[in-house]
Amino acid sequence: MTASFVSSRYANAPGSPIRELKRFSERPGMISFAGGYPDPKLMDAEGLQASLAQLQAEEFAKALEYGGTEGDLSLRVELALLSNERHLDARPEDVLVLSGSQQGIDLLARTLLNPGDAVLVEAPTYPAALSAFRFAGATVHQIPMDQEGLDVAVLEFALATYRPKVLYTVPTFGNPTGLTLAANRRRAVVELAVRYQCLVIEDDPYGELYFDKPPPAPIHAARNAVEGADEVLIYLASLSKTMAPGLRIGWMLGPPAIRRACVLAKQVDDMHASTLTQTAAARYLKSGAFQRHLPILRESYRDRAMTLFGALQVQFGNRIEMPEPQGGMFMWGRAPGVSAQEWLAAAIEHGVMFVPGSAFFAEDADPAFFRLSFATQDVTGIQEGAARLARSMRQLKLR
Ligand code: PMP
Repeated sequence: MTASFVSSRYANAPGSPIRELKRFSERPGMISFAGGYPDPKLMDAEGLQASLAQLQAEEFAKALEYGGTEGDLSLRVELALLSNERHLDARPEDVLVLSGSQQGIDLLARTLLNPGDAVLVEAPTYPAALSAFRFAGATVHQIPMDQEGLDVAVLEFALATYRPKVLYTVPTFGNPTGLTLAANRRRAVVELAVRYQCLVIEDDPYGELYFDKPPPAPIHAARNAVEGADEVLIYLASLSKTMAPGLRIGWMLGPPAIRRACVLAKQVDDMHASTLTQTAAARYLKSGAFQRHLPILRESYRDRAMTLFGALQVQFGNRIEMPEPQGGMFMWGRAPGVSAQEWLAAAIEHGVMFVPGSAFFAEDADPAFFRLSFATQDVTGIQEGAARLARSMRQLKLR
């Protein structure tokens, strides 16, 4: 059997539950609240196209060559500027360009972790990060959250008990909860990380997508404010949710020795992010079009989020528990007494999808949790989708 050639790490590993749901989302008429996939209609395709079209023949030819592993300098300049708007005090040479922030998670898992090392993550967390840490042989422990993010007291207990090498967190409009870590807790996380010498991987693809009020500064902003913090804080960001995911561009800031290890891993991985998309992104950022487009995105996602939140309140009343979203792409709910897995099966028959919450936990969890993304559907689709969700839940109760 050829399957026996597959290494033990990959042989019995589950695939990404969200990516595997994608085939249902391709059914005609399906309304998907499942993936955190930005709506292509909200991407500034024209602006991006223009930034490539304006390249002179010579510049275009340059964008077809191999590039340096750390990334194209003109893009690193723009990403440093973007980082500094988030109070991160980065220089171009501090930026490692990634083929999507997903690659950053994987490079860090591969370069930092030895088999058996402990990693802390939020409960619930981003499943592809869970997989990356597990492929690296790490033991993953989950820290509970409340409405203000990670529970800092449990975090301290876990730091003292497991002596983890890494804490992975999505502290701003997180995936899957949409919740944001409160500013005072951000400070506490940094102090604990320094005290227990635990690296913090802060994954921040959603921070720009706030609806009304900007979120607190990233955890990474405390790098120069707390002694020793610069040695333990790592920051990952992405253009996927705000520009276009198909560009596959993300970036990393962090201690030079760690970035260097990631460069070595990247040299044998993809060598460098696509020069063509780096050139397009750099041009687009430099033109100012990105900053002009962001408010449109924020407003569109706010409209969608409020439409979905409102429609669910009308359809379900207090049969589901769900905090009001403040930004990002996700709403995290709980339907007491319902198995979200069974509900999903009924929902698919009704032409609507979401992700059952179990996908986001490292261990067994309350089956009543579910995640909805309001990013992909327009307002009309969202209203119809919410009605289908209600119908499928009624059918479930009759079984
Ligand atoms: N981190 C989180 C929390 C995400 O939700 C995603 C995308 N779903 C990623 C990383 C990966 O994003 P990308 O590789 O497209 O930058």
